[in-house]
Amino acid sequence: MSNGGGEERMIVLEKINYRYVYGGGVVQALHEVSLAIEGGGILAISGPSGSGKSTLMYILGLLLTPDNGDYRLAGRDILRLDEEGKAGFRNRHFGFVFQKFNLLPRVSALGNVALPLVYAGIAPKIRKERAAELLARIGLGSRLRHSPKELSGGEQQRVAIARALINDPKVILADEPTGNLDRRTGQGIMEVFQGLAEEGITVILVSHDRELVGLASRVVTLVDGRLVEE
Ligand code: ADP
Ligand code: MG
Repeated sequence: MSNGGGEERMIVLEKINYRYVYGGGVVQALHEVSLAIEGGGILAISGPSGSGKSTLMYILGLLLTPDNGDYRLAGRDILRLDEEGKAGFRNRHFGFVFQKFNLLPRVSALGNVALPLVYAGIAPKIRKERAAELLARIGLGSRLRHSPKELSGGEQQRVAIARALINDPKVILADEPTGNLDRRTGQGIMEVFQGLAEEGITVILVSHDRELVGLASRVVTLVDGRLVEE
């Protein structure tokens, strides 16, 4: 789990700008955002709707490339890599969890969790073992054959978290993961994240639920695309 050697900060963003250009004009979604993230713990990104939280999440996860600024990940200047290099870093470092669970509807919990390993060319037997292990770890050992519609919302989100863990990521990026869940179920999901953080995984969580944000080890807030530390 350790990236060994030195006390290199895992993620360093410096003066990141990002704007969307669309038919009607331009939106400056992120403005000179700087953020250094150490490994481990839960970092919450809060802020009102439209403040740039998802954009920041996509940039952190290498799904969007900033217009300018620096991004170092585990000491590497990540923005200089080509698309293939970025995809490699993305797959090795990050697992994604979204508000809508994004599970394949006709595929079992086991199949959904194992799916990223299909793309990675891992043998079926190993895929199933690894997926079953993760589902058990996350409290769904008795739901392997259930399809998403046979699972509660909280269970579906757990399946999505297990899927996000399948490549052994160092960082989980979760964008409003409890947004479709009632409060109590959302707290259960937060407990899952706390468990992962204790195992040394860094959890970066976007949420505007004050109560959940209060459980994070660190909170930063976006206001109109600018980052302020709490
Ligand atoms: P949040 O996740 O905090 O709600 P976003 O990062 O989704 O905020 O969006 C930040 C700003 O960028 C908002 O003003 C939003 O309307 C705008 N925006 C987001 N996506 C697009 C897009 N594809 N095209 C144009 N504007 C966008
Ligand atoms: Mg958003």
